[in-house]
Order: sequence, then structure tokens, then C-alpha cells
Amino acid sequence: MQLTYRYRIYPSRAQEQKLLATLDSCRWLYNHFLERLNRKENGKTPRRYKLQATLPKLKRERPELKQVHSKVLQMVLHQLYSNLRSLAELKRNGRKVGRLRFKGRGWFKSFTYNQSGFGVTKGRGKRRELRLSKVGAIPIVLHRELDGEVKQVCIKRERSGKWFACFSVEVEELQKAEKLSKPVGIDLGIEHYIADTNGNLVGHPHNIVKSEWKLKQEQRRLSRKKKGSRNRAKQRVRLARTHERIRNQRLDFLHKLSRCYANHHDLIAVEDLAVKEMMESTHNGKNIADSAWSKFLFMLTYKAERAGGWVVRVEPRGTTSRCSRCGEVVEKPLWVRVHRCPKCGLELDRDLNAARNILQDGLKKIGWEPAEFAPVEIEPLPARASAVIETGSPAL
Ligand SMILES: [Zn+2]
Repeated sequence: MQLTYRYRIYPSRAQEQKLLATLDSCRWLYNHFLERLNRKENGKTPRRYKLQATLPKLKRERPELKQVHSKVLQMVLHQLYSNLRSLAELKRNGRKVGRLRFKGRGWFKSFTYNQSGFGVTKGRGKRRELRLSKVGAIPIVLHRELDGEVKQVCIKRERSGKWFACFSVEVEELQKAEKLSKPVGIDLGIEHYIADTNGNLVGHPHNIVKSEWKLKQEQRRLSRKKKGSRNRAKQRVRLARTHERIRNQRLDFLHKLSRCYANHHDLIAVEDLAVKEMMESTHNGKNIADSAWSKFLFMLTYKAERAGGWVVRVEPRGTTSRCSRCGEVVEKPLWVRVHRCPKCGLELDRDLNAARNILQDGLKKIGWEPAEFAPVEIEPLPARASAVIETGSPAL
């Protein structure tokens, strides 16, 4: 299984110039190859190895390419072909797609060292150095341990001007548990971000982000600056920093929430998001599903799998209307927040009822009798989990 660790790096002025020059060389190369792809040869898209074979000649013509590690140049081509492949896949799935675009100045934001040309200095503390071929040793802060076999590192410049190194690491999965002891069902909702079978209701991450007002303020300031002025450029960076901070707060929230579920449960049943999004977009005419859901499920899946747990995706249809105790279908419009069953008399928050159904479906899906866990025990999340609700709190 592959994981990505992201760390901030602190290049000196001179190193930053080299990093920027590398980005620009990669951008030139990307556009050059894209142009050749568009031109086609005898009506066919040229093969990747054919283009790769032109690299030595290109280097002779453009000496600045020699200032870039050769593997980094090859990875530009790799990126281009993988973009092409994902585009073709979208097309196959019936999506309307355009063509790949040429990258303008400032639109090429990352480059990758694969297998060779990089290394992190050994040591004990968090402050180390990332050695990059043709660039130098850049200070890096390993705020968390980097373990596993590093396959590649991607160097990225954010709009805020900060630089990051993203390490792709191969790690082993733990053996799956033979017996389940702590399953949980999770309902992703509009009213509550999450409702689970332990009876927890978690609010939406947007609601807890307090920096939203700051964003508005910075945006207003930007619009007041004169076009093309230095102050406007400065303000743009300030705005980007605010965006970045908000994104970080959201990610932090999602990381802690998913970590909490992954640590405390060996089976996590969730709805199949692709189906849910489709359903909701047809029912309501617009896509109300939040993109943070898919991010959350992604985090949840890799964290749970790493800890030896399961994430089971179930069909979301019917999970809200069905009674989790007797199975009676009780249709209710969105604004009815409580599930009231006329048959067995169960009264429960609608999202909690859905979470119970999701857990039962998840257990059935892997061949476990839901009865073994019925009625679902209601236990609060451990005290540590309450930290989840506040962003910016220390990591669990
Ligand atoms: Zn019932």
C-alpha cells in the first residue's frame, strides 16, 4: 500500500532560484511534448519511449535542461502520459472532456524525483536536510517520522510561496482481524457531517472554521488594490495564505476524525459515495454532496487498512427510510429529523437510524450476521475523541 508524507522545506534564496528554474524547465518540456503529441506522427500519438529518446538531443539544444536531474525530466513525460490516460478514462465513462492544456508561466507547480537523485540526511532531530541532485541540501522539518521505503519525492510550490516535499512510501498492511469486536456504521449527512452507531453526531467542518471572515476581509482588501501594483501582488499572497490556513484546518479536522475511527474500530461501514452523490444530484437538482466527504473516506480507508481494519461500502439507497429495528419502510422528507416507526415504535434521530442500517448492511456484506451485534451498543466515543471537534488542537 502506498502512503504520502508531506513536509515543509525551507530553501535558501539561491536554492529557491534553482527550484523555480527547474519548474520552468519542466514546464517548457511538458509543453514541448504536449505539442508533439497534438501534432501526431502518421496520424498516431507517438509512443512514450520514442519521445523519451529525444531528451539527449533536447538537452544539447537547451542547455538549461542539463541543470535538471535526468529522472525529473523523464517524470515530466510520465506525468503527461498519465494525464492523457485519465482523460481517456473519463471519456470512456461518458464524461465530456476537453484536451490537455499548455501550461502558462506559474501554472506548473511541481516536479518529481523517482527512485534516484534525492535523500534525507540521517539524524535524530526533526530538523534534517533534503538532498536534491542539481539543487543542493534544503532544510526540511520532519514533523512526523518518515517510515517505510521511499519510492519518490515530489517537490511542490504552493500559491502562498511555501515549498513542500511529498514522499511516496511503500508500507505493509497489517493482517486483518479474524474476529470483529468493534464495528461501527457511519452516515454522512447534510444536517450532521457524521452520525455513527455509537450515537455521536459531528458537525460540518465548515461550521467550525473561524477563519472564514478573515478570508472575506482579505478578498475585499485585494479588490481595493490597484491592478498591476506591487501592493496587489502582496495582497494576493496574503489571500493565498488565508486560503491555505483554512484548508489546513479542514484537513486537520478530517485527519483527526478519521484517525479516531480507525483506531477504535475494526470494521467501519460507510455508504458508497459515488452512488450517494449520484442519487442526491438527481433528487435535488444540484450536487449537495461535499467534496470533503470523499477526502474523509479516503483518509479513513487508508488509516483503517493500515491498522488492520476494514472499511465496507454499502448501497446508500433505503438506508434513511428503513427502520433499523424492524425493517419497516418509513418514508420521510428531508426536514423530518426524527425516525418514528409506526410498527415497532422506534424513535431515533434519522441520521442515527441510517447509521445503524449502514452498519447492518456492512456486516451482511462481509457475511456476518448483524444479529450478533444487535441491538447496537451505544457507547460514546472515547474522551480523546472530543478533541476532534476543535480544530487546531494537538494531534491525537
Ligand atoms: Zn420499526
